[in-house]
Amino acid sequence: MSAITLRELTKVYPNGVRALDALDLEIADGEFFALLGPSGCGKTTLLRTIAGLEVASGGTVRIGERAVTNLPPGQRDVAMVFQDYALFPHMTVRDNIAYPLRIKKVGKAARQDKAAATADELGLSALLDRRPGQLSGGQQQRVALARAMACHPQVFLLDEPLSNLDARLRLEARTFLKRLQRELGVTTVFVTHDQAEALALADRIAVMEGGRIRQVGTPTEVFRRPANTFVAGFIGSTPMNLVPARVDGDALAVAGVRLPVPEEARGEVTDGEHLVYGVRPEYLDYSPDPVTDALTGQVVVVENLGSFSLVSLDVLPAEDGTATSVQVVVPEGREPEPGDTGWVAPRPGRSLVYRDGELVGSAAAPPVPAPRTGVGADA
Ligand code: ATP
Repeated sequence: MSAITLRELTKVYPNGVRALDALDLEIADGEFFALLGPSGCGKTTLLRTIAGLEVASGGTVRIGERAVTNLPPGQRDVAMVFQDYALFPHMTVRDNIAYPLRIKKVGKAARQDKAAATADELGLSALLDRRPGQLSGGQQQRVALARAMACHPQVFLLDEPLSNLDARLRLEARTFLKRLQRELGVTTVFVTHDQAEALALADRIAVMEGGRIRQVGTPTEVFRRPANTFVAGFIGSTPMNLVPARVDGDALAVAGVRLPVPEEARGEVTDGEHLVYGVRPEYLDYSPDPVTDALTGQVVVVENLGSFSLVSLDVLPAEDGTATSVQVVVPEGREPEPGDTGWVAPRPGRSLVYRDGELVGSAAAPPVPAPRTGVGADA
């Protein structure tokens, strides 16, 4: 078993920066888990503290049944792949892959066999005698993964594993990494600042801000039901629309119109209270003709994004006079022109309300599905 359990994990650097602030987190055995957040939120510090490369200032780290908080990295049975891969330039691919086995005093023949077998699994057999300088970025990344795999660690820790690759190679490497993790079934934690990468790869994601975790959930949960406006703004290729709103009897006054109170917030809001209404651009339907329960306004920008367009409308001002713009995803062939008047209606069950930045109606949260574990599951 190689679940990772963090309790009140805290890291304060000597300069006083509190990079991790009493984090509690459980990562299941076999899970592919993403640490996501903006620059400086503490992702790398968290990964390095799990690895033992940083000493925790407080709290505990457990891997499986073992308390590892005070163990050095070499005794934690984890393998870390660094952002720059950290390959030895003067060594061949074979020797790079075999290096951790050499440190573990595995005999030469055995480690060369193991290196060749691991290289074979990752499609590197033809490159065993090259040096890192003679490889592409994608190949170097595979060598770094092979080196990590050769020791059969309990846990893989990957720091921005795809960030050194160009856009096309990154997509290929993403698919490769996901398949590899599934096949190996090894608990894997990876750091990324790219929300699309986290959504595409991870079984679950922790979204971090300022040394704290703002939400943990599956990609679907953090996308559809962000727990707070921070996550709502961070997840998604376009941020969620967040519009000031006021409860008006049994409805919400939003941008000059009355909309039904979102289902899960019914009975949780009080007449007259000020809230924020949230709906993703993907969950709004655009209409050139008036429709009920819709926001309305003038189209100001139409951005062509291939099979769909992102349309920005200036909707009616809020009651306090604040001008608001709303974005909506419109399928190919149905795009309006700038200057048109349009209506945008939220799809049923897809709008949310936030009070003081936190989701209203969390009591009605759907159950969190158990993370996938083991080889071949969910394949
Ligand atoms: P990025 O995406 O930019 O790599 P991150 O989320 O990984 O950021 P960390 O590198 O963990 O963030 O840094 C968290 C905070 O700790 C930041 O404020 C950073 O400046 C600070 N920090 C990181 N390393 C050190 C260090 N060795 N000494 C002092 N402060 C540090």
